[in-house]
Amino acid sequence: MARRGLLPSHCSWAGNKIHSRTDEIPRQWYNIVPDLPARPPPPLHPKTFKPLVPGDLSPLLARELIMQEVSDERFIDIPDEVIDIYSLWRPTPLIRARRLEKLLDTPARIYYKYEGNSPAGSHKPNSAVPQAWYNAQEGIRRVVTETGAGQWGCSLAFASSLFGLDCEVWQVRASYDQKPYRKLMMETWGAKVHHSPSILTEAGRKILSQDPSSPGSLGIAISEAVEVATARSDTKYCLGSVLNHVLLHQTVIGEECLKQLEEMGETPDVIIGCTGGGSNFAGLTFPFIREKMEGKINPVIRAVEPTACPSLTRGIYAYDFGDTAGMTPLMKMHTLGHDFIPDPIHAGGLRYHGMAPLLSHIYELGFMEALAIPQTECFEAALSFARTQGVIPAPEPTHAIAAVIREAKLCRESGESKVILMAMCGHGHFDLTSYDKYLQGTLKDLTFDGSLEIQEKVRSSLSSIPQVPR
Ligand SMILES: *Cc1c(COP(=O)(O)O)cnc(C)c1O
Repeated sequence: MARRGLLPSHCSWAGNKIHSRTDEIPRQWYNIVPDLPARPPPPLHPKTFKPLVPGDLSPLLARELIMQEVSDERFIDIPDEVIDIYSLWRPTPLIRARRLEKLLDTPARIYYKYEGNSPAGSHKPNSAVPQAWYNAQEGIRRVVTETGAGQWGCSLAFASSLFGLDCEVWQVRASYDQKPYRKLMMETWGAKVHHSPSILTEAGRKILSQDPSSPGSLGIAISEAVEVATARSDTKYCLGSVLNHVLLHQTVIGEECLKQLEEMGETPDVIIGCTGGGSNFAGLTFPFIREKMEGKINPVIRAVEPTACPSLTRGIYAYDFGDTAGMTPLMKMHTLGHDFIPDPIHAGGLRYHGMAPLLSHIYELGFMEALAIPQTECFEAALSFARTQGVIPAPEPTHAIAAVIREAKLCRESGESKVILMAMCGHGHFDLTSYDKYLQGTLKDLTFDGSLEIQEKVRSSLSSIPQVPR
């Protein structure tokens, strides 16, 4: 454990600057693909249904990111400049939740890896920074993207500002109207923010002609950003989750955490995280799954999703589009159908119809399990967390906290002192309206696990997924 002195042991004076522990930031990202017993099914061209070749993606993504997307290297070097920027908030703390343990009267030892200290307040800058860096290296002038509640848009806006890139963000209309602070953050970092659907793209105009007051969805916003990126050669698209290279960048979380747990002499029995597109979960767990495949440890790996958007637990494993308009490649993933529009729950980052293809594949291989929890239980858990550990969680990781509390209560009953590790992927300082609703008693669960309504809704949206010939 860290020695106590006048300065924390990781600080050293150099002029007036305190350096953080860049030597403790991993030098490489971990690519799990070559270690898996079976290869993930390839993405397919949306028109021909033929396996994608890297060139198909080049109008859309930076060259180096495409290479990472299809890479067979187990470890990929993190550029020095990216490590230097990571050091603004990395390494991130691994904290034992002793006060929460005490509240729950559990013999379990609960640890959380906290990503909320990043400039944008979540894990997302871990991928935004390298994505912006590679684009800048390749002479790209402008990056475009979509955002839901605004976490990813903020992260890319922040990263773009560091490298002088123009950044344009299509934000889901409902959040654009309800959450002005995230938009203002993006603008403070120099980005231009449009609401989605917008009149600026064909995809947006089409939706608006059908429903002028459409609240939008992530799938629609992706269609808009992709359309803009493909129209201009100086512009590329960036995605904040789902794709292999995004999951890859996030493994910096798990690699750091493996070392931190080792230093504490702990081995996790259960690892829990929330899944929207799967990136924070993959980021923490992939390095642990590697150790599990090597037979060194044997933790249960558990993903938690909202009952209102249950892609892993209620979706099907099939080829589907990543966006609503059907412009992206087809990816084999757990999906609720690309035109599934989830209830307006507060965990905006978990309202995506699909799951990362790589994580879906790993789920099929049996390396992990999944469950769905309704949002009121999540907010109740979040208050317990905030009132013991201090941090007010973003609505997304409240799902992980609720599952951790369930596990810790089981430990109380069985007397087992399991080590529970949780991905605590962001703070909720800009999501206090949802806490207000919970505290006022007006936050409701519209969807219950496996209810007839959700089954019917999923059945109806699954009927429009593309029929891919075998
Ligand atoms: C975006 C976001 C998520 C969901 O995305 P994943 O790719 O599943 O991690 C979860 N939590 C927070 C705080 C987010 O910003």
